[in-house]
Amino acid sequence: MGMPANAHLAVVTGASRGIGEAIATVLAESGLRVALIARNVEALSRLEAKLSATGAQVKAFSCDVADEAAVNATLEKIEASLGTPGVIVNNAGVGGPFHRADEVDQAEWDALFGVNVDGVRHFCRWALPRMKANRFGRIVNISSIQGLFGGALSSTYVATKHAIVGYSKAIAAEWGAYGITCNALCPGYIDTEMLANADPGVRKELRRRIPVGRFGSAEEVAQMVAFITGPFGGYINGSALVMDGGLSAHL
Ligand code: NDP
Repeated sequence: MGMPANAHLAVVTGASRGIGEAIATVLAESGLRVALIARNVEALSRLEAKLSATGAQVKAFSCDVADEAAVNATLEKIEASLGTPGVIVNNAGVGGPFHRADEVDQAEWDALFGVNVDGVRHFCRWALPRMKANRFGRIVNISSIQGLFGGALSSTYVATKHAIVGYSKAIAAEWGAYGITCNALCPGYIDTEMLANADPGVRKELRRRIPVGRFGSAEEVAQMVAFITGPFGGYINGSALVMDGGLSAHL
């Protein structure tokens, strides 16, 4: 299936580690040029060097996704040096601290919404008119299984991840006619740094609740992103795709 030129340039946020690093790696390996975005310049530069050594075309850009002016400036730089992206993967996200809803203050609420929700909107707002002009766009927003279900001690995170699902569906409905798809991906427990640092007892208990008996890998999420943004992903639009090993199939 033929893909337009801008389909071959992806922007991946939160690419400095974990799921974002895996997404950037898989997309680069599949032949896309990839702009890597996060705040940690050293980590981004390491990944840029590692992927470049394999012949991939990647470039690192340090940016706080919560800052709209910084996002716009970064995207202008990307456009000037690499071209207009046809693929945007909004993966950057923050979680915690874990406590009750009555203990959440405005600053904490704003900080999480700033990265997890405003961050997504900043990239979409810049990219949508350009994708429309190119009649092609693939946006994947990394939500969570907590974007579809609740969870004690995580009310702010849960609210941000639900917001991402709703926003993605609205974009899908509004922009599908211009060749643009927008989906939310809802992973369950993925074995990144966050889980690796959890108490062994907690890891065991979490694993016990997952029907397939294991955590997901960042690469499994990345391969799903590659499918959605690749030649056969064009009919997936407005979905909240669950990847949780069956965790949410439990009553
Ligand atoms: P990590 O904490 O390992 O990585 C988060 C990434 O986001 C880092 O690259 C970080 O880079 C970046 N980031 C955070 N804040 C900002 C910011 N203000 N501006 C730019 N980049 C930022 O998380 P994971 O890889 O585990 O998670 C990635 C996404 O997947 C998140 O959205 C998370 O909510 C979601 N998710 C994760 C699950 C899991 O089990 N791990 C399950 C379901 C969803 P830096 O610090 O360099 O800026």
